[in-house]
Amino acid sequence: MTASIALAGVIGFPIAHSRSPRLHGHWLKDHGIAGHYVPLQVAPKDLAATLDLLPRIGFRGVNVTLPHKEAVMTLAAETTEEARRVGAANTLLFKDNGFLADNTDVYGFASNILAQVPAWQPRVAAVIGSGGASRAVLVALLDRGVAEVRLTNRTSERATRLAEEFGSRIRPIPWDSRSEMLAGCDTLINATALGMTGKPPLDLCLDSLPSTAVVSDLVYSPLETPLLAAARTRGNKVVDGLGMLLHQAVPGFEYWFGLRPKVDLALRNAVLAQ
Ligand code: NAP
Repeated sequence: MTASIALAGVIGFPIAHSRSPRLHGHWLKDHGIAGHYVPLQVAPKDLAATLDLLPRIGFRGVNVTLPHKEAVMTLAAETTEEARRVGAANTLLFKDNGFLADNTDVYGFASNILAQVPAWQPRVAAVIGSGGASRAVLVALLDRGVAEVRLTNRTSERATRLAEEFGSRIRPIPWDSRSEMLAGCDTLINATALGMTGKPPLDLCLDSLPSTAVVSDLVYSPLETPLLAAARTRGNKVVDGLGMLLHQAVPGFEYWFGLRPKVDLALRNAVLAQ
């Protein structure tokens, strides 16, 4: 039986910190849709049973956050190419015979930069970090035709493994050479957790980076990380990470509520409101 009120949500463990309910809540209200988007705390042992139950009680789909992003791939009836390339999903659409698992971080990352810098066309990019978010960044850069990605990570084996997986356009660079590798780059991305409130800043000297390069940080708390502040001071275009969170939510909302919403200042302010 389909509920008349559209339901969607986000599953994670823990989940209280998620900004997604506020984000989707803003769009639901803005468009006058009789629906709800709810945070659902689901332990790993309950994941499969929860994904079986939710469509039967009226949910159209969910976002997925830590620690379930990889596990849902093994439970999905269908996966998108982006989800397979990233190896993780963040957006599920319930269907009659199971669910579709998609990864909208690839879209969210690229759309965020393009919204601020419409002419962005990465040729030589520097990426710091080799965790889950970095994988989505690499897929987006490759899809936009990047010629070379200089990839560095504190644990160097993780960068080497990603280069093996994603091909010769990805060049692993030793962690100690991260500042020097910026010479000639048109794009710099921080895909580590460094710079986040409560964590040390990213220790990176920007002297070699061309002042025309676009600099983006996936960390969005604080909005202006020490990296973005330093880049702005020397004249680089900077793109904060909150926009990626907002843009990655667009395809999910459209899947569940049938309408493609806009990312605008009102949405940003709603998500930032305490
Ligand atoms: P993850 O899989 O846990 O990876 C964490 C990354 O940060 C790894 O590369 C790790 O290096 C590095 N790192 C952590 N602490 C470090 C330290 N003290 N020194 C050097 N490197 C350190 O996390 P993730 O999912 O990729 O997320 C990375 C960041 O992106 C997080 O801050 C997350 O909030 C943010 N993010 C933002 C969005 C958005 O929409 N804006 C989306 C996804 C993620 P090692 O491999 O050496 O541990």
